[in-house]
Amino acid sequence: MNIHEYQAKKLFQHYAIPTPQGCVASSALDAQNIAETLTNESWVVKAQIHAGGRGKVGGVKLAKTPSDVFNFTNELIGKRLITKQTNAHGLPIESVLIEKTYPIKRELYLSLLVERSSERLVFVASSAGGIDIESIAHQLPEEIITVTVHPATGLQPSHCRKIGYALKLERAQQKQLDVILHGMMNLFLEKDASQIEINPLIETQTGELIALDAKINFDDNALALHDDILALRDANQEDAKEHEAEQFGLNYIALDGNIGCMVNGAGLAMATMDLVKLKGGLPANFLDVGGGTNAEKVCEAFKLILADGNVKAVLVNIFGGIVKCDIIAQGILAAMAQINVHVPVVVRLEGTNANEGRALLSNTQFTLYAANDLNDAAQQVVSLAKGIA
Ligand code: GDP
Ligand code: MN
Repeated sequence: MNIHEYQAKKLFQHYAIPTPQGCVASSALDAQNIAETLTNESWVVKAQIHAGGRGKVGGVKLAKTPSDVFNFTNELIGKRLITKQTNAHGLPIESVLIEKTYPIKRELYLSLLVERSSERLVFVASSAGGIDIESIAHQLPEEIITVTVHPATGLQPSHCRKIGYALKLERAQQKQLDVILHGMMNLFLEKDASQIEINPLIETQTGELIALDAKINFDDNALALHDDILALRDANQEDAKEHEAEQFGLNYIALDGNIGCMVNGAGLAMATMDLVKLKGGLPANFLDVGGGTNAEKVCEAFKLILADGNVKAVLVNIFGGIVKCDIIAQGILAAMAQINVHVPVVVRLEGTNANEGRALLSNTQFTLYAANDLNDAAQQVVSLAKGIA
């Protein structure tokens, strides 16, 4: 799960990571009032969306007067912001963060994440932070260092010094950095984060380190343990269909293709998507209806798939183990009876009660394409989606 920058900064403060003075606003008048209270010569107005890359597309604006803050907020709120990290529709701006600006001497990069290959937490640091960190990563990878932390020993002074050296800090700044690194580590572990990124971490003209930006991702599998984090969820920033799917215990991820896929089991879902691609098609989604699914879930899954206007054909691929194929067939028929299914549906049922399932599907007024095996199913659905079957 993702949270907003202003929420991440509140968590930072809790862990002694310095952040700019500021406050979130959801109207231009509030924003102006905040600027007036935060006495300063200029302010920054930052669109709050669950994506970075805002600086490059006008989502971060420098204001010289409180009335600039009012105007910029008016321009941003109610719009959708499209950045390199969003899809083509962008994300809705419903609030802005108003902060004091600080005289920036240098922009640094600092993050903490799980490195799967070493099964450890790793800090990533660079003295070349800011909005071009991605191109630095491509062109000057040696400018970015990583420091792996062993879980048994935790964060050590030697780790901190190595990061301080990479960030080209003065000796006097090392203490400030130590506080930030320990704060990140404690936050990560206590709240079950999966990533914390500070880009940029700035060095001010007077040598202070401040987290100018804040991004935190949390491990969805641990959210049940953290009511305080769950309360920060903003469903408006999430894909509406993915959110709805979660309510029904379905694992759904929207994709760009035109072949809807309904599969039980994540591994089979991945294999099905691979096969669809191999046959020249593009999946519209990843959807795992789960191992112990029922007719109601299948019905909801069908509705979700068909709510995507790009879907030209649907492939149902069920391997009945615990779940019985005739139950799945009932779900498919219930869904087709409830909603106007306007696209061809290819069904491959295998495993427990497959024959009963197939019999149910062949005795119906709906047009369903039965497949002999998975290869045949993928071939059929790709042809149908292209309109050449
Ligand atoms: P992102 O583009 O979504 O990652 O948004 P950031 O919060 O990182 O802001 C992008 C850029 O805007 C930063 O790299 C800074 O150069 C600039 N910026 C953000 N906040 C301030 C500020 O308070 N003062 C100044 N001078 N620049 C800022
Ligand atoms: Mn940033």
